[in-house]
Amino acid sequence: MKSSAAKVKNDVSETVSNVKKEVAVVTTTHYNKKPGKSDPAMLNDQQKGKNDNMEVMYSSTRNKDEVVTASQAILKGLAENGGLFVPDHIPALDVDLTEMSRMSYRDVAYEVMSRMLTDFTEEELKNCIESAYDSKFDTPEIAPLTKANGASYLELFHGSTIAFKDMALSILPYLLTTAAKKNHVKNDIVILTATSGDTGKAALAGFADVPGTKIIVFYPKNGVSPIQEKQMVTQKGANTSVVGIIGNFDDAQTGVKNMFNDAKLAEDMDAAGMQFSSANSINIGRLVPQMVYYVYAYTRLIADGTITAGDKINVVVPTGNFGNILAAYYAKEMGLPIAKFICASNENKVLFDFFRTGEYDRNREFILTSSPSMDILISSNLERLIYKIAGNDAEQNRIFMKELSEQGTYSITPEMKEKLSEFYGGYATEEETAATIRKIYEKDNYVIDTHTAVAATVYDKYVAETNDLTVTVIASTASPYKFTRSVMNAIDSANDEKTDFELIDALQELSGVKIPQAIEDIRSAPVLHDTVCDKSEMEKTVRDILHL
Ligand SMILES: *Cc1c(COP(=O)(O)O)cnc(C)c1O
Repeated sequence: MKSSAAKVKNDVSETVSNVKKEVAVVTTTHYNKKPGKSDPAMLNDQQKGKNDNMEVMYSSTRNKDEVVTASQAILKGLAENGGLFVPDHIPALDVDLTEMSRMSYRDVAYEVMSRMLTDFTEEELKNCIESAYDSKFDTPEIAPLTKANGASYLELFHGSTIAFKDMALSILPYLLTTAAKKNHVKNDIVILTATSGDTGKAALAGFADVPGTKIIVFYPKNGVSPIQEKQMVTQKGANTSVVGIIGNFDDAQTGVKNMFNDAKLAEDMDAAGMQFSSANSINIGRLVPQMVYYVYAYTRLIADGTITAGDKINVVVPTGNFGNILAAYYAKEMGLPIAKFICASNENKVLFDFFRTGEYDRNREFILTSSPSMDILISSNLERLIYKIAGNDAEQNRIFMKELSEQGTYSITPEMKEKLSEFYGGYATEEETAATIRKIYEKDNYVIDTHTAVAATVYDKYVAETNDLTVTVIASTASPYKFTRSVMNAIDSANDEKTDFELIDALQELSGVKIPQAIEDIRSAPVLHDTVCDKSEMEKTVRDILHL
């Protein structure tokens, strides 16, 4: 009795000190226990079989022995050697869907997130949810559905930066600071983020002036829309830094990943009382909040009589880094009746080719399109799906990812490809995307942005090809006000003479939709960030910013 109590105490203090050390220094030790609770691996088979209350642990896609709790996974962001944290199981959503159709967004969020983030207490999680999903959103529905062109558009752009990244990034700072407190982390958390345009602003807005945090955002200097850039470089907050790089998004993402894996940098940071974490969609703290709105959308379709509980729906997701669509896939694993995941790409159609052939090949020209948040050739979150269809085999996955980084390509096995039958890949050209914006405006008087239009185009192609008329939800990922020039050019030409803000006023006249506060805010805001560096100088820039 006495000796076992002593052992428990010992484990706790050891874990606590490991947490600080590991997160900070990125050493090679692993934590696989959490303070005060039993090791899940110790549960006997009987408990395992029936127990959905079992703690969800997160392991690395590249090393089965690196296992952490949810809060530790959120803190670390990325596993060692570039691996991503994945849940060891996804508990069933054992709440009646019809009952959920009467719940608020916040209540649905609690039901979904509490099943995934099992080491957060009810009070902690509810605090995070209430702090995130409040009047920062311009509608109490948070994520409303609009019917147009034969589908339901799930509008994920009602948050403070008018793109879907707000759905997760408005809650991530709270999840992260709660996780730091739970794990007795003393260091300041430095958020290092690569952005194709929308993540950066949403992360800056979420973390600005949050005590105990700093945030550094890298964006491709010539690869984001003028409004996206203006939003970022006008960001207030003493703890914020914004850097344009001479390079594309993949360069920015690779540079950030390299810094995460740089032991010397981590050591210098720790000595200065800091440690990195990630706000990119590789952080499980981004993915879990994104599962919520698929469940919410489904229950709203029950509420308005479009479906009855249990009916299957299809979802169409305009895809870049594969985070949004993966969250839908995880929602299905939790029990949400989804038949098809329609993965829509722009002309950077790596994923379309992958779903068709089973070969992932990033060796191709990087194309700048009117949907810049999807201009990506390395879809990081696809790794989580590859790991899954490889039978949760970290070793096998690690080999694929090594091939990807060394040769730029890998091919999955026929058995793995069979497990992708729920996915349909499609893509839209620039001309098709513009034509869809115009068509839906003329037909339904509904203006969608370029990213959503990629999805709408692919959905039209899917229906034409398959005749599948299953009720469909299209993820509408940005406000048309964020990509005004492309949207207005699609609807009517002769805009060349007009400034971006003149076009914004024209869009309001044409759509009747009020100009969002996020746009009003940048009309006259001063530029506060003007750092630009070459893609090879990212680490040096970080060291300068952090005075290392
Ligand atoms: C980030 C983003 C996407 C792509 O989402 P992923 O999760 O990276 O696949 C699509 N549309 C918009 C507007 C975005 O900001």
